[in-house]
Amino acid sequence: MNNEHFIYLDYNATTPTDPKVVEAMLPYFYERPGNAASRSHAWGWMAEEAVDQARKQIAQLIGVEAEEIIFTSGATESDNLALKGVYEMYHRKGRHIITVKTEHNAVLDACYAIEKKGGEITYLDVDQHGYINLEDLKAAIRPDTVLVSIMWANNETGVIQPMKAIGEICEQHGVLLMSDATQAVGKIPAYPGEAGVHLMAFSAHKMYGPKGIGALYVRKRHPRVKLAAQIHGGGHEKGMRSGTLNVPAIVGFGKAAGIALEEREQEAARLFELRNRLEKTLLNTVEESYLNIDQAAARLPHVTNIAFRHVEAEGLMISLKHDLAISSGSACTSASLEPSHVLLAMGLDEERAHSSIRISLGRFTQEEDIEKAAQKIIAAVKQARSISPVWMMFKEGLI
Ligand SMILES: *Cc1c(COP(=O)(O)O)cnc(C)c1O
Repeated sequence: MNNEHFIYLDYNATTPTDPKVVEAMLPYFYERPGNAASRSHAWGWMAEEAVDQARKQIAQLIGVEAEEIIFTSGATESDNLALKGVYEMYHRKGRHIITVKTEHNAVLDACYAIEKKGGEITYLDVDQHGYINLEDLKAAIRPDTVLVSIMWANNETGVIQPMKAIGEICEQHGVLLMSDATQAVGKIPAYPGEAGVHLMAFSAHKMYGPKGIGALYVRKRHPRVKLAAQIHGGGHEKGMRSGTLNVPAIVGFGKAAGIALEEREQEAARLFELRNRLEKTLLNTVEESYLNIDQAAARLPHVTNIAFRHVEAEGLMISLKHDLAISSGSACTSASLEPSHVLLAMGLDEERAHSSIRISLGRFTQEEDIEKAAQKIIAAVKQARSISPVWMMFKEGLI
């Protein structure tokens, strides 16, 4: 996928589909075309069997039962189904939901929509390193709180929230806990049962599966979580999400889960080394560069977020666009030139947020890619600063 001229380091935006995953999917386009809901012939049964198998593989990856997996079109839909589905089902009990300012837009925008319907949302702050304060969470829980929604690992910074401690607090107060674990599943252990998580959203294309397929874990007992469907129709997925199942994509998702289960640990260790080396090279070589997160804190092994003072990240990316895929903020909002809401919530000023880039490594990243990428970034930063009046003024101590 990478070649001499192009290096892909934007795995948090999406991962390439593993060739083994593609291979597993192929028969389900033509040779085995059945609808998994067709009960009257062998093609239907074959499809159903394949879906059952994939559901098991995915459930196994996160340590839950197969019946607790609901297929959706991706994490955006899973987030919407969890938040709106819980609100609609439980709003007579309470209309209050707690989430965090650094959540993905799929969660934040679903929350804004719920506010329009009469819901009340508390958006928790994070500290300078991106972590929530557990005392803030406790203080925010009210008698009418029905749901807490906190992402497992942040897509822009890789910061991992203390899910187990969060789960204990929610348990003590009898509120449901939902987690967007899109960046965690397949990369680090993410077990909703152990963490006291009742609903968990994730997506195939962030873990080497195909785009357009995702899942929502919905806990079946202690307690049994009920959701109001957001898409109505034939009553698929226990009535929670109607629509003909995307059998090839589900098969691919299952295969991706199987591979992740086998390779996750080794892969994380390898990427941890490469990421640290890249981070060190950039921070040691480029003057006035900063790591936006705490180096030693709980974070994903393959992601970094670095600021280069007085270098516009957008300009930097444009100058590298034919050589290197990296990102500023998240892909979902990079169409706008707003600085990252995640970095701003961490207390970074706009200038620093605008000069920050996210680099995310993955399964197909090689050692030499890291060296080359570092050299390209270093050269691009130098070039940008060499023609920047702001940088010159800064160097002369004028600003
Ligand atoms: C990518 C991502 C999403 C959206 O997932 P889709 O499957 O693309 O809809 C949601 N949350 C997080 C944390 C993500 O990284």
